[in-house]
Amino acid sequence: MEREFKERGLNAGPVTRFAPSPNGYLHLGHAYCAIVAHDLAAREGGRFLLRIEDIDGPRSRPEFADAIRRDLEWLGLEWHEVAPQSTRLELYAQAARELEQERFAYRCSCTRQEIAGLEHRIGSDGVEYPGSCKGLHRPEDFADAGQTALRLDLDALLAENRELVWQDRKAGTVIADPREFGDVVIVRKDLPASYHLAATLDDAADGVTLVTRGLDLFSSTHVHRWLQELLGLPVPDYWHHSLLLGEDGEKLAKSKGSPTLKDRRLSGEDGRGLADRLRAMQRELGT
Ligand code: GLU
Repeated sequence: MEREFKERGLNAGPVTRFAPSPNGYLHLGHAYCAIVAHDLAAREGGRFLLRIEDIDGPRSRPEFADAIRRDLEWLGLEWHEVAPQSTRLELYAQAARELEQERFAYRCSCTRQEIAGLEHRIGSDGVEYPGSCKGLHRPEDFADAGQTALRLDLDALLAENRELVWQDRKAGTVIADPREFGDVVIVRKDLPASYHLAATLDDAADGVTLVTRGLDLFSSTHVHRWLQELLGLPVPDYWHHSLLLGEDGEKLAKSKGSPTLKDRRLSGEDGRGLADRLRAMQRELGT
């Protein structure tokens, strides 16, 4: 399959990105991530991109995407916005077909309930699927989307016998081990890709050379590094930064009702001042 990806320019600074999902309003943790990515690009003469990850159709709403842009502006950030995920469905579908044809991925028709009833190993990410559907389904059995998910085949990846690494500005050289993720879902039953497949293809298509994101997503990079290898994509560097925690010591999350940036903005708070306080916290945490 022909895919065009931007080449890393010689002597150019890093291309970083902030890639929020518009299924809710941003909170302080998001502001922190966006500032890390923005400032790195600014400091090193690179470019900072905004990508709206709106693949999750029913949950993604344009008003959330609008609020994201206003929040970033309020924080005093400047960005270049690239194509949202909803415009890239064909790119994801082609990559999924390629992985399936090359037998690096297989169809799985199990329901959540069925998976819960299966014997499984517990991996770093929770439950690992034991491969019950492997070899059961032929691609042509499922012309209709929505009946099956597509999973990477751990055994097929291990048989490749390749040692893949990524460079992490914080963690150093990291070996991407497929056993960390097992037969992970790369196309969801209800969507044309999972976060893993979509974000990996997008980072390549957008020419991102330094992926910055929270340490909570460290384990995803094992998956993404393998997808890059299987799909012939360029490999960016990574920076998995510390997370901003709430007063309870837990990660700040939308679901926990931590104050949204929109609320703070509308209450008249100074966004640039808030961004500077977050920068000071970053220095304390050592990012
Ligand atoms: N849309 C993902 C999120 O909001 C992006 C994660 C990433 O930076 O790769 O968690």
